[in-house]
Amino acid sequence: MRQKIVAGNWKMNKNLSEAKELIKEIKKEVKTGLEENTRVIIAPSFVNLHNAVKKTKKSAIEVAAQNMHQSKNGAFTGEISADMLTGLGVGIIILGHSERREYFGETDELLAQKVAAALENELEVIFCFGELLEDRKSENHFTIVENQLKKALFHLKAEDFKHIILAYEPVWAIGTGETASPEQAQEMHAFVRELFTKAYGAETADAISILYGGSVKPANAKEIFSKPDVDGGLIGGAALKAEDFAAIVKSI
Ligand code: PGA
Repeated sequence: MRQKIVAGNWKMNKNLSEAKELIKEIKKEVKTGLEENTRVIIAPSFVNLHNAVKKTKKSAIEVAAQNMHQSKNGAFTGEISADMLTGLGVGIIILGHSERREYFGETDELLAQKVAAALENELEVIFCFGELLEDRKSENHFTIVENQLKKALFHLKAEDFKHIILAYEPVWAIGTGETASPEQAQEMHAFVRELFTKAYGAETADAISILYGGSVKPANAKEIFSKPDVDGGLIGGAALKAEDFAAIVKSI
């Protein structure tokens, strides 16, 4: 059975005291009662990871980082390595978010290196991909997504995908309030699963969790998550309010 996952990407939000408060509230809301095979992940900023790991230790909540450098260590001022993250007890990393691609110039080639470095360090990867509005308008969205996945991930072996979670995030739906319809999400998720079936076989493809991200809210989560190839969500804005995040978790 595929894992169902709700992950909250906090982006560049919350200072230490605010992060502490949000974790406390989330822990109250998401106590127990998670079904087997269901995971809840939060991704605070680097400076709040240490506290997040400590405070979630005895809970069902897991902690992810939002980015990392591809090199082992060295003269890369301001950067964070995979080893530093695992050293803190972080087991999951978000890579390929559209904001990293757009504002920090991360290419599929660079992401292939980051993914390889993450796996080498036994980090599980939430790999984000998705098309721009202009790609969808010109009906190139399937080609764009196929290229992103092939370039960044298809150098991996089938068994590596046990440590990869995919997150389809159409860029036009991120932080815009505009959500892909459940049908649009399902259509893309099925397409992606088919790509994996062709490249790696049905067993691998069927086991990969594919999350949807882009303006998921308590009001639309249930319908999106009800689609057969949608295995959960990567949540931005709504992950910053414990009540909303918990409601989304309960929709899975
Ligand atoms: P959003 O962000 O839920 O605020 O649209 C999703 C994301 O960027 O992961």
